[in-house]
Amino acid sequence: MSYAGKVLRVNLTTGDNRVEKLNEKWAHDYFGGKGLGIKYLYEELAPGVDPLSPDNKMILMTGPFTGTTVPVSGKLGIITKSPATGTVLDCSIGGHFAGELKFAGYDAVILEGKATNPSYLYIEDGLVEMRSAADLWGRGAQDTEVALRAKLSPEIKVLAIGPAGENLVTMSCITSELYRQAARGGVGAVMGSKNLKAVAVRGSGSISVPDISNFVATVKEIMRTDTLTDTNLWAFTDGTPMLMDLSQNTGILPTRNFQEGTFTAFENLNSDSLKKVRAGKKGCLSCALGCGNYSKTGRAAVEGPEYETLAIGGSNCGIEDLEGIIKFNDLCDNLGIDTISAGNVTAFAMELTEKGVKDFGLRFGDTAGYLQVPELIARRAGIGADLALGVKKLAQQYGGGEFAMHVKGLEFPGYEPRGSWGMGLAYATSDRGACHLRAWPVAEEAYGERDPFTIDGKAQLVMDMQHYNAVKFSLILCDFWALSLETMAQMLSAALGRSINEEDLRQAGERVVNLARQFNVREGFGKGEDILPERIFKETLKTGATAGKLLPREEFDNMLKEYYALRGWDENGRPSAQTLSKLGIV
Ligand code: SF4
Repeated sequence: MSYAGKVLRVNLTTGDNRVEKLNEKWAHDYFGGKGLGIKYLYEELAPGVDPLSPDNKMILMTGPFTGTTVPVSGKLGIITKSPATGTVLDCSIGGHFAGELKFAGYDAVILEGKATNPSYLYIEDGLVEMRSAADLWGRGAQDTEVALRAKLSPEIKVLAIGPAGENLVTMSCITSELYRQAARGGVGAVMGSKNLKAVAVRGSGSISVPDISNFVATVKEIMRTDTLTDTNLWAFTDGTPMLMDLSQNTGILPTRNFQEGTFTAFENLNSDSLKKVRAGKKGCLSCALGCGNYSKTGRAAVEGPEYETLAIGGSNCGIEDLEGIIKFNDLCDNLGIDTISAGNVTAFAMELTEKGVKDFGLRFGDTAGYLQVPELIARRAGIGADLALGVKKLAQQYGGGEFAMHVKGLEFPGYEPRGSWGMGLAYATSDRGACHLRAWPVAEEAYGERDPFTIDGKAQLVMDMQHYNAVKFSLILCDFWALSLETMAQMLSAALGRSINEEDLRQAGERVVNLARQFNVREGFGKGEDILPERIFKETLKTGATAGKLLPREEFDNMLKEYYALRGWDENGRPSAQTLSKLGIV
């Protein structure tokens, strides 16, 4: 089996650690990453725990493919309870940390408690130490990583937070390799609440598989026929900025805090414009797609920006200037802030200012003001003290709830649900709040062949996509590889030495979705929280392919009702005892 078979548990309060055997039954049912991490958290975390208290846990989770030659498998899962939403939270982060952790001999690290003083965790095979981070506290996430590499080894792999995480900002992220992030839900603030500035790992071991010849032959063939194909190579040639043109043409490009679905200056921010300033390429461990693109223009440079930053930090703030967005991206990365949430809260503050609800001194399209925001949020200084609250709490404080673009406290990604009705259901039912990585029906609706302005078949579509993504994120395969469940099953069978088929994986995905839901139900979530902002139901869009469109509330309610019924959940969105039993959850 390709597991290390060991879990490292670290008590940050006492500095003690111990190695435990990986729970084989749970690994059998949930594989790794998202699923296995949520299983551990569900079993170990009492309901009602304050996410920023020492009682919350943070789990660094690898998967059965981590450290092997399975393509596009280099990411790490990070699982905790979100301080932004109060829901379960799983993020994935690219780079090389996950492989290094597995080479050090661990499938997972469970972080508990709170260090007495600012610290970092050092792991080198069997050596596990809490070390002082007094000289790192207050520094940027990128600066911290550079400093640790200089001090420890250029080969060390690091997860780090910036000042935003230290200051418990609930849109703070964790950074690795300077520009890779576990971005959403305030995962950086959980690390900050534990006085944990960084985790540094070095490993010298290797991964075993039951039949190396079969494994190598299987992976090699899949790489040839299923990875390096036209379906996936967009990630290498263009990366996510190619979505700018698609979103503009289909009228789903968030603009001026989701007031419009098209942006007049979109060509400044699209893939062609990014290619003109491209300055290098980068990829994660075992990834042949290598989607990372460095961009450099004027005095700004960054790895990225990705579509989400271009859309939410660009058109959604009315910013026409690519150099400004690149600078915004780089500031957020070093300060340790999620660009999606930061872009949204900036746009929301711009609209509150525009409408005279509350003057934050921010205007749509004003790049100079916009570039002040990340530092202010990270330090909770000036208007940053308010903006650091995030869109939901800012609306609670000052008003504007009907155009506060979030679900459960997590701000919207870059796809307008009025032009892709299934996306509305996907946002509403995602386990961590508004998220495009739980289901992405926009691929078949606005970008594809299905009618985006109907609810017909959308409940089934969203449910199927959620199952697919849940198992993919449990195997920790990057979402940029469009592979089938059959291909996943072939690789997993070769890695684990037991026969696994498509139906096993589909059911595992369903199990993970229901366990995540059960976690949230236990925390008090239900139908009342599976809702979209009023703007989506009441305001029509004005331009482009979505002119005159909204998502009627009644249609949304019917879609949600159908979704609950398909899932075997009750009318309040709670999984029935029969559903949980069928999936082996209780
Ligand atoms: S496609 Fe990009 S994000 Fe995904 S694993 Fe490869 S380099 Fe990393």
